[in-house]
Amino acid sequence: MTTRKPNVTTTGADPRLAGGRLTIDLDALTANWLFLADKSKPAQTGAVVKADAYGLGIVHVVPVLWQAGCRTFFVALAEEGLRVKAVAPDARVFVLNGFFADAFPVYEQSDLIPVLGSLQELSLWKHLNAGRQDKLPYALNVDTGMNRLGLNVSEAIAFAAKGMDEMPVLLITHLATADDPSHALSQKQFESFQKLRAAFKGVESSIANSPGVFHTLHSGFDLSRPGVAMYGGEPVSNVANPMRPVVTLEARIVQIRTGLKGETVGYGATATLERDTRIAICSVGYADGYLRSFSGSGVPLRNAVVKGGAGFLAGRKVPVIGRVTMDLTSFDITDLAEDAVKPGDFIELFGPNIALDDAARAAGTIGYELLTSLGNRFHRRYLHSGKGD
Ligand SMILES: *Cc1c(COP(=O)(O)O)cnc(C)c1O
Repeated sequence: MTTRKPNVTTTGADPRLAGGRLTIDLDALTANWLFLADKSKPAQTGAVVKADAYGLGIVHVVPVLWQAGCRTFFVALAEEGLRVKAVAPDARVFVLNGFFADAFPVYEQSDLIPVLGSLQELSLWKHLNAGRQDKLPYALNVDTGMNRLGLNVSEAIAFAAKGMDEMPVLLITHLATADDPSHALSQKQFESFQKLRAAFKGVESSIANSPGVFHTLHSGFDLSRPGVAMYGGEPVSNVANPMRPVVTLEARIVQIRTGLKGETVGYGATATLERDTRIAICSVGYADGYLRSFSGSGVPLRNAVVKGGAGFLAGRKVPVIGRVTMDLTSFDITDLAEDAVKPGDFIELFGPNIALDDAARAAGTIGYELLTSLGNRFHRRYLHSGKGD
């Protein structure tokens, strides 16, 4: 069920019954997209909304981006493309992850555009289109150094040289190392892509993901494709994040207990208390996407250098103690004033006080994985200014 007040749309679990609360600031999302659009100029700016808009919900994210002026969307799967079309029928929607013949009728009916990434897919597409008067549009992906999807550069140049009867409407490549400005591969990829653009004269071109938008070499391309930065993630490693935080994850405190010096906490008894310790047991765990690796060195098989996660409560950071479990996570709150918190209060796991990427680093991962792992048990609140309602 979805309920809507002027400035808040709520969905997901009933707040009285949920263990965690997810708050998504759609005004911050809009501001981030507009900032990226400005940075991308003179290129146009699209939006990558694969994996249900990085976990935040296509139905909530796409209309807001459309209203901000975004007209082109990228998804991984055709199924996701249909969900974009359902809320933005006039959007131009590209499907990144390859093309299979059995999906052709869907492309015919739904106006989705496949991003073809191999000679096999190209000839299949050509064959299936052969009987049609009006050939359906497609985009072409060329691999300039990632070895993931895409024609090789030489295959693409040979294809262009044959004098195609059906040109792609968009030429893309994907950068492997744009988040690390010192890496030499980006330069090589930009150079290869310039050659390709010359071979595909007049075809719209797109290279930049979020870090690509910030890359010094990024200029002269037609369309950028940011994802994570729109959602508040850090676009460039080791550079202060200029984006506004969009997502706040909070967990409800179920119980506060005191463990005595010398006792242990949690599964595996991995944490031994060095002092009498007040522990807040909170109602979010790895089943919600609060990864088990937030336990730090309390989890074997992983790099013990990572210290583990922290929450933000009553104005300060409090560390995870013991292992994160399926539905519960414990925090050491000994350093908080005795009466500062009580059961029912919420602890921030990431958001304005604990940056998404700092949380991710503490779990040995990246912000992308935290967002796309968010579970479906939360009460969700979407904040918006209400403009245009
Ligand atoms: C996911 C993806 C993007 C967006 O990447 P971000 O780093 O999230 O900005 C852009 N292009 C392609 C091909 C992708 O797969």
